[in-house]
Parts: sequence; C-alpha cells; structure tokens
Amino acid sequence: MADSKKAKQNHEEENPFEEMIKRLDVAAKIMKLDSEVYEIMKKPSKLVYCSMPVKMDNGKTKVFEGFRVVHSTALGPSKGGVRYSTYVNENEVMALAAWMTFKCAVADIPYGGAKGGITCDPSTMSKGELERLTRAYTNAMVDVFGVDKDIPAPDMNTGPQEMAWIVDEYSKLKGGFTPGVVTGKPIHLGGSLGRSEATGRGVMTATMEAMAKMGLNPAKCRAAVQGFGNVGSITAKHYEAKGLKIVAISDHTAAFYNPDGIDIDKAIKYRNSNKGVIKGFKGGKLISNEELLTLNVDVLAPCAMENQITDENAAKIKAKLIVEGANGPTTDEADHILSKKGTVVIPDILANGGGVTVSYFEWGQNRSGLYMTEDEVNTKADHWMKQAFHNVWNTSVKHKTTMRIAAYIYALGKIELGIKSRGHY
Ligand code: GLU
Repeated sequence: MADSKKAKQNHEEENPFEEMIKRLDVAAKIMKLDSEVYEIMKKPSKLVYCSMPVKMDNGKTKVFEGFRVVHSTALGPSKGGVRYSTYVNENEVMALAAWMTFKCAVADIPYGGAKGGITCDPSTMSKGELERLTRAYTNAMVDVFGVDKDIPAPDMNTGPQEMAWIVDEYSKLKGGFTPGVVTGKPIHLGGSLGRSEATGRGVMTATMEAMAKMGLNPAKCRAAVQGFGNVGSITAKHYEAKGLKIVAISDHTAAFYNPDGIDIDKAIKYRNSNKGVIKGFKGGKLISNEELLTLNVDVLAPCAMENQITDENAAKIKAKLIVEGANGPTTDEADHILSKKGTVVIPDILANGGGVTVSYFEWGQNRSGLYMTEDEVNTKADHWMKQAFHNVWNTSVKHKTTMRIAAYIYALGKIELGIKSRGHY
C-alpha cells in the first residue's frame, strides 16, 4: 500500500483520544489520582465547532469545518496550535488538546491545554483562500480566544503568516491591537526570536539528555527522522550539529536513505525550492516510510503525525531511543511492545514541549514589552527542557515506569493541585 494511503488508514482506524485515555488510566492508577480530577481530565472542558463558507478564487463558495477544543484551564489560560489538514476531526483535536494540557504541565509553564483545526487541504489553496479561511475561523472563535483565555499558535501546515492574520482579524474585531492573543507570530508583529526553531531544538535537547543517560555517544550514532516540516527538518539540523549521522529523512511525498549521512542543509534548500516537499531529492536512495521506521539506527525521531508506530511495525523497530517530535506518533499497543523490548521512548508531551515553552516566552514578552535576544531565548529554553526531562526521568525511576507514563504522572500531579486548590461548583 502506498505510504500516504497507509498513513490515512492508520489515522482513520486509531482514535487518538482513546489512546490518550489509555495512558491517563495507567498513570492515574499508579499515582492514585483523585477520582474527581480523573473524571475532569477525561473530558474536554469546551468543544466549539464552526462551519465556514469561504469564497474560493473560482467564484464558488466552499464550506469548511473548524474546531477549537479547550481541554483544561486548571493551571492557566489554555494554549495550543491550530492545524490545517484533511485529517482534522473532532477526536483528533480533542486528543491534541488534552496532550497540550499535559505538555504545558510537564514543561512547568502556567497554561492549560487547547487545540484547533480546520479540515482542509492547504496545498491546493491559494494564499488569498487561506487568508479568507483563517479570518473566518478567527471570527468564529473570537469569543473563545483571548490573551488570558485561550492562545492559539502554529501547528501542522500553519505558521507565522496564519498567526499574523489571526492577530489582525482578532484586533479588528476587538478594537485594539492584541499581539499576545497568539504566539508564533512574525518577529515584526511581536514574535519571539528563536520561536520558529524552538520545537526542533527542544527535541534535540531532550535527545541529548536521554543519550547521556543511556551512555550513547552522539558522534557514534545514526538517526532517522520522519517528517521534514518545521519540526523534523530543524530536529535533523540540530542532530547533525551534535554529531549524529542522519541516515534517513522523509515527508509525505518521499523517504530517502543514505548510509554515509544525508546533508541536511542541502535537503532543506531542496525542499524550500521544491514547493515545500523533498520528492525528487538526490541526496539518498528512495525508500518507503515504513522502511525508514525500521532502519538499523540508534535514534528514531518521528516528527510527522499521529499513529505512525503501531502494533504492526513496533516489533521491527531497531532504534534504541525514540524521541517523539510529533504529537501522538506511537499507539498504546506499540508502547507495550517497545517497552518490553527495552526501547526508550521520550514522549511527545516532553520531547516537543520546546515549542510551547518559547510560545510562553513570546507571550511574556508581548505583555511586558521587553524583548529577549535569540541567545537569551535559547539558553532559557534549553534550561527549561533539561529541567523537564529530569523531572520526568526522576518520576519514571521513582514509579518504575516508562517515560510516557512518568510524564503523565508528573503533569497530573500538578494539575491535581491546581484543580483541588481552585475548587469548582
Ligand atoms: N503546536 C505546537 C504544539 O503542539 C505549539 C503549541 C503552542 O506553542 O501553543 O506543541
């Protein structure tokens, strides 16, 4: 089966929200989570749906569906990206929102969790169509968003341009320039230096911490990176800078293998001049996405999307360390197979928390009006990621459990305190 078809099938078969609940259940049991808190965590606190008629360039009107799910505001305003993809559905956004709640708590930042999405194929849309769609979505969500309420950010297929449109539309509707209502903005609109590379940089930092614990020397290790968007390509670039040999890369159009190492700068340049995809890249032998996942490497970084490592391929995975740049790339069944094999998995809610951490710095800079240099941002972000890694590592040692369950336990411990001290009706 073609890779993209297989990915779509995986996506439709797995319900990411159920995958989240399975991990929540295990963590809740181990830590003896308060049963009320457990019930609260099992459901999103708010789910907003909208249908958006948008005039397309050909004069016809197309109706798009959009979602914003606020999972929790127990520890602060809800935070999380907005993604544009044909896969977007209610269950996916619900899971992604819950993961944001846990991710922010793991990173020790004072936010709850949310996620938004629009079901669309942005690769077939013009800039004007994307702008009208983004403005329509902002209009529909204007009472959900807010600097102290719910703060969107980029996610799959969205970036600084979409954030700039959201700021503009929101500011017009509310009658005052409000850059802090989103993060991941262009620098000239109050974006933070270091934000665009923050997720990939954080994945690298988490990887280095894990490798040190495992006694692996980056200069002697090989890595495969799945996904070559903002997260995958920047992760690969930082891995290369740390001495890891990147033997395979991929995106939804192609995967390449080169035992001598892929030149990541060349691959990024090729992608940038090739409509954002790596199909046709000459720096390696063409392989399938499935082959990439099961290559003989030390480190595997899935940085594409949900449900890539499943019960069908987990047993064949040879990497000693998996670092999840994507949200939800590993199913619960796969987790069990991997943990039995002794594969260390650094979970998404820890590994890719560098992005939302620098989003938090951006939001703080917007509020104070004082801006940091890129070095200051990076130094601070590295420190926060290392701290989060060690908090989760120590929790996993204490409870004799995997890094994923430990991350849930660490996050739930903080959320439990928040909910209990604030109380409810
Ligand atoms: N979309 C990113 C994530 O999944 C960033 C979210 C944010 O910065 O709010 O972590």
